[in-house]
Amino acid sequence: MKYKRVLLKLSGESLMGDKQFGIDHERLNQYAQEIKEVLSTGVEMAIVIGGGNIFRGIQAAEGGMDRVQGDYMGMLATMINSMALQSKLEENGVYTRLLSAIKMEQIAEPFIRRKAIRHLEKGRVVIFGAGTGNPYFTTDTAASLRAIEIEADVILKGTRVDGIYTADPEKNPDATKFNTITFNEVYEKGLNVMDMTAFTLCNENKLPIIVFDMDKGGNLLKVLNGDSVGTLVEF
Ligand code: UDP
Repeated sequence: MKYKRVLLKLSGESLMGDKQFGIDHERLNQYAQEIKEVLSTGVEMAIVIGGGNIFRGIQAAEGGMDRVQGDYMGMLATMINSMALQSKLEENGVYTRLLSAIKMEQIAEPFIRRKAIRHLEKGRVVIFGAGTGNPYFTTDTAASLRAIEIEADVILKGTRVDGIYTADPEKNPDATKFNTITFNEVYEKGLNVMDMTAFTLCNENKLPIIVFDMDKGGNLLKVLNGDSVGTLVEF
């Protein structure tokens, strides 16, 4: 495998499958099976899942709710998704640990960097829940931060789109895909890969990003193999 230790970022919305809200168990099972397959190659994997399928602080604030309160609710939503994925992985025979940035001792270990690394070394999938534990951040930033902390080789951003395009391919049929792109080009062209805080954290800490279509069967394995799938953001 090209990469030894990776952090996979999944959006909350990706767990909805074809549903409008919540968690689609078939989709979750598909992800669990793909993850199991790549683990058998010896890759160490950590995962961050968003909460956008359940709750987003910024949207709650638009409706008049206190932003900080909403953000904590969003972080709790990521815990629900993380627990769902943990269950599916375990059903598929994968050993996991869920580490939370907010203390929830009955359901998750607290986030301790050294523990996370030890779990990875033992072949367990480590799921980082509750984002960064701070309001005004996103799970993309949590993913970048944790990936840097555990010294991951790459951050894999699984999306519905198969990479980074010159424009939004769902709106513009003439948009073309980049196989590789540099961090500077992303800034210059104003492309939307992750939110800027997350993206800049990766740039400043020399952490490459691969954006790829996680819903296409076999893609995760191909990405880890170094095959040309998705878009690689490099230096
Ligand atoms: N959130 C937060 N701090 C974090 C991570 C997440 O406050 O470090 C909150 C924020 O309200 C966010 C919500 O949790 O909208 C869900 O996360 P996100 O929007 O990143 O999920 P995704 O879009 O990936 O599903």
